[in-house]
Amino acid sequence: MFVDLAIGMVVYTATSYCTGHSFNLLFFIIGLKFAFFPDLDFVPFILLRRRYNLASHHFIHFPLVLPTLGAAFWFFVTGGWYFPAMFFFGTMGHLIHDSFSHGGIRWLWPFSNEHYTFAGWRVAKAVRRKEIIERLTASASHRSAIDEFLMRWEHPTAGSIAFLLTALAFLIIFISS
Ligand SMILES: [Zn+2]
Repeated sequence: MFVDLAIGMVVYTATSYCTGHSFNLLFFIIGLKFAFFPDLDFVPFILLRRRYNLASHHFIHFPLVLPTLGAAFWFFVTGGWYFPAMFFFGTMGHLIHDSFSHGGIRWLWPFSNEHYTFAGWRVAKAVRRKEIIERLTASASHRSAIDEFLMRWEHPTAGSIAFLLTALAFLIIFISS
């Protein structure tokens, strides 16, 4: 959450600076939303999890597909590079961040269903994923929608707060320049 917020701020600031845009509150909010966009799949997950016995909401967490298709959509709609670039880097930043979880994400989908996780600079197959999904599926009926959300809540760490404050500093410098 804090990391995605910081990613949204950095991507908005960097893209606006590089393309000569000055601060615009609406565009800023859109830029932040892009960094959270992949988690929109949490909505169908919450609605359908009981019916289909789902344990993961990663239905659109596909780095080869989502950032490029979304960027192409925004290019088609706006005819410029500003929103496509913000969408591409915002969603890609989110997916890279998610890759540090033990469950990993499907980096090569649609070519492979394998989940990959990042450990420092290493990329590894998410070997613990099967075990995690089995545990989550077994206990799914005991969890409410709020439990599902709280379970995924990332507690702020010194690192994520420092990242957020740095992103905020860049944003303030950008707005006041
Ligand atoms: Zn996510």
